Amino acid sequence: MPRQRQARTLRLRPHHICCLPFLSFDGATLDERFRQVLTEVKEMLTAQPNVLVTAIEGVDEVCQACPSCINDRCESPPIKEDMVRKVDRFLLRDLRKSYGETLTVAEWQSVISQKWPYRLCRICRWREYCGIQVV
Ligand code: SF4
Ligand code: SF4
Repeated sequence: MPRQRQARTLRLRPHHICCLPFLSFDGATLDERFRQVLTEVKEMLTAQPNVLVTAIEGVDEVCQACPSCINDRCESPPIKEDMVRKVDRFLLRDLRKSYGETLTVAEWQSVISQKWPYRLCRICRWREYCGIQVV
């Protein structure tokens, strides 16, 4: 069946697709604009099932609002862009998806629900901001 025409397609790096739905920003000290974008994208990823989301490599629209994004690279210590790309690849592979694939939010939610908590969650430094209790 043909998909309904969408007003907007999100283009996100994989760990934003995989992790933002679970993250809470309440306890985090964040730049105001960055928090606003994180909140908007999280809302789309959790409450707008028909929004289309394409998995892309490298910085995305969330990164563009982040103070740690410099010259189109993540410079957030200690991991930075190269390591973030490894995390992205790891999570995308876990979901058996590829860069360039476009799914609806509902479809991403379906594949994520089969994999979450991810293998990566066991060692993730952001666990305290997630809904994960035990992994
Ligand atoms: S620039 Fe780095 S820290 Fe900022 S949103 Fe992107 S991946 Fe996250
Ligand atoms: S614990 Fe880390 S890897 Fe797991 S969902 Fe949360 S942010 Fe993502």
